[in-house]
Amino acid sequence: MNHKVRVRFAPSPTGPLHIGGVRTALFNYLFAKKHGGDFVLRIEDTDQKRYVPGAEQYIIDALNWCGIPFDEGVGKDAGFGPYRQSERKHLYRQYADELIENGKAYYAFDTAEKLDFHRKDHEAKGKTFIYNWHNRLKLTNSLSLSADEVQKRIDAGEEYVIRFKSPEGVTVRLEDEIRGSIKIDSNTLDDKVLFKSDGMPTYHLANIVDDHLMEITHVIRGEEWLPSLALHQLLYDAFGWQAPKFAHLPLIMKPVGKGKLSKRDGDKMGFPVFPMEWKDPKTGDISRGYKEDGYLPEAVVNFLAFLGWNPGTEQELFSLEELVPAFDLSKVNKGGAKFDPDKTKWYQHQY
Ligand code: GLU
Repeated sequence: MNHKVRVRFAPSPTGPLHIGGVRTALFNYLFAKKHGGDFVLRIEDTDQKRYVPGAEQYIIDALNWCGIPFDEGVGKDAGFGPYRQSERKHLYRQYADELIENGKAYYAFDTAEKLDFHRKDHEAKGKTFIYNWHNRLKLTNSLSLSADEVQKRIDAGEEYVIRFKSPEGVTVRLEDEIRGSIKIDSNTLDDKVLFKSDGMPTYHLANIVDDHLMEITHVIRGEEWLPSLALHQLLYDAFGWQAPKFAHLPLIMKPVGKGKLSKRDGDKMGFPVFPMEWKDPKTGDISRGYKEDGYLPEAVVNFLAFLGWNPGTEQELFSLEELVPAFDLSKVNKGGAKFDPDKTKWYQHQY
């Protein structure tokens, strides 16, 4: 068992890198370097519908511009590659099959129309439809059909997905390095799709298989993934694998009002959201970034380092080398990190 700290930044190339993404990459980098570990860049490109050409290169250019180097990842040769999930497609199916063989996952043939019908039917009765132990036998899958019928459907080329068989009535206990202990009732979880009818794994399956195979010890990512944590823990248990440690970073909030920061907030704060100019390949829209507005990478890195993290000293400006020893996950705030427009201006004038 490898005990060396290994972390990864695993963006999906669905658009340019948002500041939240750069912060996640930065925190992973700082954590890895503080513990003498490795920082991996993995591209999670299994969702073909959301794939945006040019986004992967933008991500790499943005990390390079910020001066956040990765030890392993796309474009680099190392023992754990390839690091682009579309090039690891063959791997995921065998893990989905392993779960089916062990009774932890199953084939489901329900059409989108049928699922929609069930959803509406439940809604009309004031209930929420959850595809889980409660409803599973009323639906069309390898738990409700005979083995012969399942084989016949597969042989006839009928489309199917592979779903995780979420356990009934279990309390899933989770530990998060930032959030602490969390308990989730498994009855609130649905049987998530692990493998899609287009022959691609979903994010959940590919993500945990790769974290396991790449010997990732700590998963540091945005809080928007916290709701997936129970499923991920159950998947690790189903495979009999030890889960990595998890740390979910607070969201970056709007400077005024409520809610998560979005692209449109850029102008209001006098601080553009993207590190560099981005031309949307679909609309042709151009978004200007830090680089185009004359910010220096050191300023951006400093600014992002202090979003949600407090080094507990008076020092205001840190180089990347100085940030490494000072960085401490336990000093990351639980609450959302607010953008401070005054601080932003201050950084702008300093450089
Ligand atoms: N591909 C996911 C994303 O785009 C990665 C989430 C994770 O780090 O597990 O954010």
